[in-house]
Amino acid sequence: QDPVPSDIAIASAQKPKLITQLANELNLAQTEFEPYGKHTAKVTLDVLDRLKDSSNGHYVVVTGISPTPLGEGKSTVTIGLTQALYANLKRPAFACVRQPSQGPTFGIKGGAAGGGYSQVTPMTSMNLHLTGDIHAITAANNLVAAAVDARLFHESTQTDTQLFNRLCPKKKGTRCFANVMLRRLSRLGISKTDPEELTTEEISRFVRLDIDKEKIMWRRVIDTNDRFLREITIGEAATERGMERKTGFDISVASEIMAVLALTTSLPDMRERLGRMVVALSKQGEPITCDDIGITGALTVLMKDAINPTLMQTLEGSPVFVHAGPFANIAHGNSSIVADRIALKLVGVPAGEPMTAENAGYVVTEAGFGADIGFEKFVNIKCRASGLVPDAAVIVATVRALKMHGGGPDVVPGKPLADAYTQENLGLLEKGFANLRRHIENVGKVGVRAIVAINAFSTDTPAELELVRRLAREAGAYDAVPTQLWAKGGAGATELANAVARCCSEARQSNNFHVLYDHNLPIKDKIEAIAKQFYRAGSVSFSDEAQLKIEQFTRSGWDKMPVCMAKTQYSFSADPALKGAPEGFDLPIRDIRASLGAGFVYPLCGAMQTLPGLPTRPCFYDIDVDTESGEVLGLF
Ligand code: ADP
Repeated sequence: QDPVPSDIAIASAQKPKLITQLANELNLAQTEFEPYGKHTAKVTLDVLDRLKDSSNGHYVVVTGISPTPLGEGKSTVTIGLTQALYANLKRPAFACVRQPSQGPTFGIKGGAAGGGYSQVTPMTSMNLHLTGDIHAITAANNLVAAAVDARLFHESTQTDTQLFNRLCPKKKGTRCFANVMLRRLSRLGISKTDPEELTTEEISRFVRLDIDKEKIMWRRVIDTNDRFLREITIGEAATERGMERKTGFDISVASEIMAVLALTTSLPDMRERLGRMVVALSKQGEPITCDDIGITGALTVLMKDAINPTLMQTLEGSPVFVHAGPFANIAHGNSSIVADRIALKLVGVPAGEPMTAENAGYVVTEAGFGADIGFEKFVNIKCRASGLVPDAAVIVATVRALKMHGGGPDVVPGKPLADAYTQENLGLLEKGFANLRRHIENVGKVGVRAIVAINAFSTDTPAELELVRRLAREAGAYDAVPTQLWAKGGAGATELANAVARCCSEARQSNNFHVLYDHNLPIKDKIEAIAKQFYRAGSVSFSDEAQLKIEQFTRSGWDKMPVCMAKTQYSFSADPALKGAPEGFDLPIRDIRASLGAGFVYPLCGAMQTLPGLPTRPCFYDIDVDTESGEVLGLF
């Protein structure tokens, strides 16, 4: 239709098929999925067992150029491309996207179900609570926070014997350890299973975590852009007897538990990872883990349904997994390994049958923001952990963002676009192409073929689209294709789908994929590898705090993990105002955290905030319910 109706109007006009029908189309057994309402279901990891001998379908990752604050249509392309592969090329095709966070949904950017005729549906459930994974993460994260402070409090008021009597109370005359306590004992090198056999010295070591109040690393989380929680003082009530301390909140999707969910491979693996998460250091400088706090079992219970990806569908009826969280800037920001793995099996070829161009299916998975962050983490964290190899990377670019990188005025949400963006301006576009060129080069650096999807807006002129296409091909892209998938759905992306299909079958013949750095390198070398090779920084500087922590992490043996950079998505540098393709700048590392459960260290670059704020006019002004019909209004 012209003009294209609003996202919610398009979504409301379409009637999704029942989730049971979609599950049947995917040949899922009754025991392999659990419906949540009519249009969503959790799919269990049992599918991986059943299909363990099938070969995987093709694996395509969607990434982008450095975006404007409006978003350049990465989710829209992920969904639209899958629709094109499914409905136009008639191939099995699965999209794997991340669950939107309510921070942006009610804040600046809106939801993340795609847009126009390329959406996940029903978009209201997708953008709101869905099947509760983010709520589960919030609950689990904050249970840990409560447990840490409560333990600190109880240890400060009780003797070793009192603590022991409460932790291992006598029931009917006998004491026993809770299961998780055996893990703490084993960490302490004590192999006794009967509490009565502990010596006084062992009791003291066992019951007293001796948390250093100044070295608590665990923060609270909330899925709201509530900037006033960035730094808070807790424990002010008289009941806490003066045990005040400063701490803060992050957005839920930046919780280590979200990264655990995204990177885990099974329920036992998730339990191990949750148990390993370090929450604080003791006064002796020893790491205190969730196993030590005794909380691992409870966390696994809170997360046991969240581990199963949520099955939904596109507007054109193809399957979608929604799993794990966004924010590739301050988090790892990729859809989950389990969702990708299940999807790859479901579109794969049964054991014994050769994969051919005719029977191969596709999984299109989304990596957040620009290729400097989302794709970098996809490669160096996610693929390193999963062992999966991408066959192609689609880089989403828009004429408007390239013009902004060429020196166009700032793009401000809620304000009309400047003339530079609505009228032809080839000069600005060519200048800003430097940003896309660098992303194409970076994707090539890890041996992946890059296809540029030019997400066309109605104001783009044919000459502008052609210029990007030519420059991208000259810059070494496998192909560059203008797409109309926002305005036309899958039908607007047939050329893109054909390019992806060609690229994938070539990648099956020869694939040079490799990670960027060896995870055994010292922490600073790994940060420098990313900063210099992907961002093109000239130098990296470390604050005193970061320096001290790197030394401490190294002493603790936490230096053999990949790195998850927290960096602005708006620039290759840590300065969001530095557009285009800056080089030779200094990348300042302000702080660094260790995520032992997720399995990475987490450097914070520049002023990056881990809890966004709300603007003067947040999206929530437009969100409402028609109380007559019950219809949700204003989501996009
Ligand atoms: P990203 O994933 O890059 O953040 P989205 O796919 O969420 O971006 O798109 C951001 C917004 O832009 C959505 O509201 C979407 O409907 C809109 N949009 C995407 N592509 C187009 C297009 N070609 N024309 C107009 N609006 C678009």
